[in-house]
Amino acid sequence: MTEPNEENKEKDVKNNSEEPITVHVDELKDAVEKEIADAGGEDIKIGVYVCQCGGNISDVVRTDLVAKELEKFPNVVVSRDFIFMCSDSGQELIKKDIQEKGINRVVVGSCSPFLHETTFRKAVSSGGLNPYLYTHVGIREQDSWVHADHPKEATELAVHLMEAGVAKARLLEPLKPTEIKAKKHALVIGGGIAGLQAALSIAKADLKVTIVEKSHFLGGRVAQWDTVFPTDEDARAVLNRVIEEVLANPNITIHTGTELIAAKGYIGEFNIRLRQQPRGVSEDFDGLDEAIKVCPVEVPDEFNFGLSKRKAIYRPYDGCVPSGAVIDWEHCTKCGECLKVGKKGSINLDETPHEFDITVGAVVVATGFDPYEPFKGEFGYGEIPEVITLPQLERILSKDGPTKGKLEVNGHPVHNIAMIHCVGSRQKEGVHKPQPDGKVNDYCSRVCCTATLSAAKQIHEHFPDTNIFDLYQDIRTYGRGHEDYYINASKNGVTFLRYFAEEIPEVTKSPEGEKNPVMVKVKDHLTWGYEVEVPVDLVVLAVGMMPTPIQDLIGMLKVSQGNDRFLLEVHPKLRPVETAIAGIVLAGTAQGPMTIREASYAGQAAASKVIAMLITGQVELEPFVAKIDPERCEGSGECVKYCPQEEAIRLETFTEDGRTFQRAVVSPANCNGCGVCVSVCPNRAINIQGWTLDQFDAMVEALAMEVSVLEDA
Ligand SMILES: Cc1cc2nc3c(=O)[nH]c(=O)nc-3n(C[C@H](O)[C@H](O)[C@H](O)COP(=O)(O)OP(=O)(O)OC[C@H]3O[C@@H](n4cnc5c(N)ncnc54)[C@H](O)[C@@H]3O)c2cc1C
Repeated sequence: MTEPNEENKEKDVKNNSEEPITVHVDELKDAVEKEIADAGGEDIKIGVYVCQCGGNISDVVRTDLVAKELEKFPNVVVSRDFIFMCSDSGQELIKKDIQEKGINRVVVGSCSPFLHETTFRKAVSSGGLNPYLYTHVGIREQDSWVHADHPKEATELAVHLMEAGVAKARLLEPLKPTEIKAKKHALVIGGGIAGLQAALSIAKADLKVTIVEKSHFLGGRVAQWDTVFPTDEDARAVLNRVIEEVLANPNITIHTGTELIAAKGYIGEFNIRLRQQPRGVSEDFDGLDEAIKVCPVEVPDEFNFGLSKRKAIYRPYDGCVPSGAVIDWEHCTKCGECLKVGKKGSINLDETPHEFDITVGAVVVATGFDPYEPFKGEFGYGEIPEVITLPQLERILSKDGPTKGKLEVNGHPVHNIAMIHCVGSRQKEGVHKPQPDGKVNDYCSRVCCTATLSAAKQIHEHFPDTNIFDLYQDIRTYGRGHEDYYINASKNGVTFLRYFAEEIPEVTKSPEGEKNPVMVKVKDHLTWGYEVEVPVDLVVLAVGMMPTPIQDLIGMLKVSQGNDRFLLEVHPKLRPVETAIAGIVLAGTAQGPMTIREASYAGQAAASKVIAMLITGQVELEPFVAKIDPERCEGSGECVKYCPQEEAIRLETFTEDGRTFQRAVVSPANCNGCGVCVSVCPNRAINIQGWTLDQFDAMVEALAMEVSVLEDA
């Protein structure tokens, strides 16, 4: 932001000392008199304030002249420009004018309404006016910033925009926010680190929380890792600290094996239907090892990313939460072998899913990510057994993994490893095969560079004779302490080779009898494009992150996805965890690739939003919702047909003087003020409060008025 100084002032004058500009106002008079009559004859007194934004606006727009021009418009009692309208002294000006000059409508031209509309509403309110008797006009993002090279035209545009604001302000009416009772209870979807952190913070504020976790165990992906950067702690130890706190908090209820199957309602009162898969095995079952032995079913173990098999009765690891085993209903053949072992009645193969409802005031979506699954043949994956992904390597390095922590693959030890970065991240159209939706993953997954170098560090510590070749595009160890892993790798003899996305490394099976089963060829740009051949025992693909597929959930909650398929926040900087649906917030990697630290921050940020929404048990909603004019409504039902919001508008039958007729009725809590109903109503019988059709007409007329020169410039 430019601070105000003499230089800026000089620039203002220079920029605008070209041609004068005039605004014609006479045509307005008749229309205005009619509007005043329509508004019940209220004496409308408008205060206009043009913000210089410390030079951000006034370096381009002659704010002094804009204010002077606006002074001439009907009903404008005071018109000023000021250095920073959002400052205390700027707001004080508004309050003073309300109290001393009796202004009853306020128009501020400044930055985007996103930043300061609420600030000015509060100023208007503290001056004693209804806060909705205020109009915000964006003359920074919409004008001075984008027309910096055309100061004269930018000044004209500011006059136009401000005049439209004044035209709207003339027709403003006092509004009241919709007040709704809010359940002091939140739902957290996803029991990974982000969801657990969110639940814990909400529960600590003495609100009730229900965690719904799709799998039968808590912890999400972190439970699958061995040692985690940047602290080199045991992943489970980190996770268990949070889980223990969650389990100990009486405000938290956990449903594992559970998913949402329906959702209705609005902030303060979401009615949620859940379906819980049974575990089939009681917590105190004492014959698990024997039951696993006798179970004849074998399926790839998803916890080990398919590197080993598990039975249809299983638990992912010792120490998992909850600690009991479960039946894999998809694969169990109900042969009954497991029923013959352990305490009688501990296993019930006839259990069925259970559906139940909860009502909550807010929802946190923390459904996490899936590692990118390479296509068959991509870098030899799925064809050469010695090509695995980084998540699979994490399981190999884990003491309770498929090799019990031994660095071996396909039955033989590993001495030479090639690690290839950016597999499934930073992809290029035309080079990489797209996903089923036709898009490539062009984003950076952020975590994989450090996770790869962290794995290299572990390998060097536990298997010091191993040679590591690191094939990267760019190393992005961006977080605090992450660069240490790069330095450590460089010092510990990791050989770095740099490839470009257009020339991806080639991975082939070595001919029979070769010492190393895999050959990696790469054009290395650290040696100016030298073709390097690296014979290795193992290739590790540092796969990227993709959001967990939750299409059904997205449909039920009506949250939006970005182009990268991750869930979308309202604004990445200003409202980073809120969705466009009031009462639904995001946490963790459902929103984009994040480290554990970032997912924890995000969980806590989501929680603070939820706490602010629910703590008083009352939610105030903006009044910008549809309003029916019963005189004009003929019950055509078009609004109901096209309304995209469930239960926002309905037709009701009325009887009057023996006559039965239908009229549209709005449920303000469900309406998001999108305006679809306004556009389809054949009778102009619906308006969005605060943005009525008459106000739009007045604004369009004002915008279309001729503005040629400011006479006294
Ligand atoms: C190979 C690899 C290594 C990594 N190593 C590190 C590291 O060393 N340090 C670090 O900081 N970060 C690391 N990360 C990143 C770390 O894994 C994530 O930051 C973390 O897992 C994010 O947690 P989350 O809660 O957002 O998501 P997740 O861990 O994915 O948890 C989401 C949870 O939501 C559940 N869920 C999904 N859909 C539904 C649904 N519809 N209903 C109910 N529940 C649902 C899932 O079952 C899961 O339990 C690594 C990532 C990878 C890929």
